[in-house]
Amino acid sequence: MPSRKTKTPHSSPPAKPPPKTWTALSVSEQFRTLFGLKKLLVATHREPVIYPDGTREASPLNQPKLKYPAGGVSQSLHRLLLQTGGDWVSLKSSPGPRKLSISLPGFPASYNLYRLGLKNTLESEGYQRFANDLLWPLFHEEPGRIGSQKEDFKNYESVNKKFSEKIAQVMIAQDNGVLWVHDYQLALVAKFLRSFGKASLPPMAFFWHIPWPSPNYLSYLPERRDLLLGLLDYDLLGFQTGLYRERFLESIRQEFSGNDEIEVSDQVIKKGTRTIHVGDYPIGVDPGRFETLSLDSIGLSQAKMFLAENGLAPEEMYLISVDRMDYTKGFLKRLQILDALFQQFPGWIGKITLLQIAPPTRSTHPTYQTYQKKVREEVINTNNRWKKRRWAPIISIERTVEHKILAPLYRLAAGALVTSTNDGMNLVAKEYLAAQKDEGGTLFLSRYTGAAQGLKEAVLIDPYNPSESAAIISRTLLEPPSIRRGRNRILREQISRNNIFQWMGSILAGIHDHTRRKE
Ligand code: UDP
Repeated sequence: MPSRKTKTPHSSPPAKPPPKTWTALSVSEQFRTLFGLKKLLVATHREPVIYPDGTREASPLNQPKLKYPAGGVSQSLHRLLLQTGGDWVSLKSSPGPRKLSISLPGFPASYNLYRLGLKNTLESEGYQRFANDLLWPLFHEEPGRIGSQKEDFKNYESVNKKFSEKIAQVMIAQDNGVLWVHDYQLALVAKFLRSFGKASLPPMAFFWHIPWPSPNYLSYLPERRDLLLGLLDYDLLGFQTGLYRERFLESIRQEFSGNDEIEVSDQVIKKGTRTIHVGDYPIGVDPGRFETLSLDSIGLSQAKMFLAENGLAPEEMYLISVDRMDYTKGFLKRLQILDALFQQFPGWIGKITLLQIAPPTRSTHPTYQTYQKKVREEVINTNNRWKKRRWAPIISIERTVEHKILAPLYRLAAGALVTSTNDGMNLVAKEYLAAQKDEGGTLFLSRYTGAAQGLKEAVLIDPYNPSESAAIISRTLLEPPSIRRGRNRILREQISRNNIFQWMGSILAGIHDHTRRKE
């Protein structure tokens, strides 16, 4: 890595006071103020684009039309890099070359996407198992679903090392001003970068997107010490909520009690001569984009067509749920709530339908196959139990619906039902609010989501208490519109302020401050 001959950009004056409402443009301007001409380097497990199948290799005259995966965060980072320029390293999961230059009309910059291929299938499977069959269930407090094997950690380490090698190469070529690594698949990247030990590194931020569990769950993880120490090799660690941050700090306290090298305080961990900043940065959405999409007349007529094709007449009242078919999203709990609603308040039979958008996820995986089969069976059972003439209570759509149709579907729904049993944030909840310009629909939000920790005025439900949740839903649906509008006004104001750009801006400012303090 090149040594820093010139004075680094973080010796620039402190950032301007943050804007009242952050936008993509204000984040990119802030990035320039903080990091000058240096570029951002992002690393994620999943890549932000899908290279279309059957396309010939790209050339200047033959640029394939890239597709974009569903998911708010990667698409927002993608748009940030299209404003600032930069580099991105992720695993290659679709055809095409190892390096892509990503640009879009209307955006001022482009970025390089470096796509890491894993040739060794056993290694790749072990890495995925450690991440998805151990860390994912454990950190969602579902130890009963752990399915990892003994040697998986070695593969997890090995893939993290490969990421670090690629990142180190990119840094040499690009002299990046900051590295920002994402999520539980890549906890050890900073550790390997430090172990290469050749030259100075840019400041390294890490964001943990999923929940951080109560520290006692970590006892199920034999490699917890390696994981925690690996995380302490970053300079800034971000969590979704204050609760997760506190639990992380407590995990460090418990694991390293008696270790004089490690000292934990509220926002900071000292490890030897290094200081690690630990903050909570609740992720948001781009509310303006969702509002605009929800009002778009073409999208609206497509959404109405979508409803008609799936058997919902325009005047019919429906609740919407939108989740990957993952066990953490509480599909079975949602069906129990629906059952309780019809049992306790039979007046709703035939009057309200659940539109369940449920794209399957990890479907080759036995745990997921069993869960998804059970969900399908229970949907059929619930429909059989309550159907009446041509009406059935659940319409389940097992495919990804794009935002331009999803946003008007949110707008037309009487409510959104979020029933996660444990969820780092839940962006769907915030997207639903963003689409309520008419201020009419109600967000029914599981208390076990990160979103519920910030949106205090939301109507909270408890997926473990179907009967109480059903009573709350019935009561709220019958409220005068003025009450719903008043509540939504407050919630919409909150998601506008704490939007995705504010999330990015405050993490970038956090890592910049960290470096300034070191000077
Ligand atoms: N999503 C989508 N189409 C679908 C299902 C989901 O675009 O059919 C998007 C949804 O709009 C949201 C993201 O996928 O942006 C899901 O994020 P969330 O935080 O709610 O859950 P996650 O899947 O990240 O656990």
